[in-house]
Amino acid sequence: MLAHKERQRIVDLCVDLSRRGYLAGTGGNVALRIDAGHFAVTPSATDYLAMGAADVCVVRLADLHLVEGERAPSVETGLHARVLRLRPDVRCSIHTHQPVASAWALMREPLTPPGARSGDGVPMVGYMPSGSGLLTRLVGRAVRPGVNAYLMRNHGVICCGVSVEAAVAAVDDLERLARRQLAHRISQRAAARPDRAFALQRVLTALEGKS
Ligand SMILES: [Zn+2]
Repeated sequence: MLAHKERQRIVDLCVDLSRRGYLAGTGGNVALRIDAGHFAVTPSATDYLAMGAADVCVVRLADLHLVEGERAPSVETGLHARVLRLRPDVRCSIHTHQPVASAWALMREPLTPPGARSGDGVPMVGYMPSGSGLLTRLVGRAVRPGVNAYLMRNHGVICCGVSVEAAVAAVDDLERLARRQLAHRISQRAAARPDRAFALQRVLTALEGKS
């Protein structure tokens, strides 16, 4: 089997991300660079907890040609390829519908850490349908050196890193930041709307219970 190590790494990563609530069912997908011309990517519509290394696809970076794999590659293969082409330093990219950052992605604004200048936050890419070339183009326009997390409006996130561990850290950091900023926003709303404070406090408790 070609690239067994990378394909098994994707299987292990998907199990880990699923158990931690970042991948739900068949939602989300992962890519891992194999060499300068190829990467491994999760197959389309597959239960990640039942997936084996042979199910993971090996794809040519230049034209997305399927080199090996028993299933069709993820519909977001083009999105991952765009990130890997634009960022030669990146080895792993992860697309999730992770709960809190995806909730933030329903709003039309970037996610800015406390104290950061506007523009230094996590970029918000506009909405385009999943798996479309238009979404790939929008994300491609947003990708910057050194920026490893991007929100996709009304959809989810894409994170990347120089290693699997770095990409996972970007996923974790983004979820933590989204939780903190969303909690802050809800507290502000509760203070401004005493008539809704009780309901908002319940949302806040549920949000802070998710760690
Ligand atoms: Zn998606």
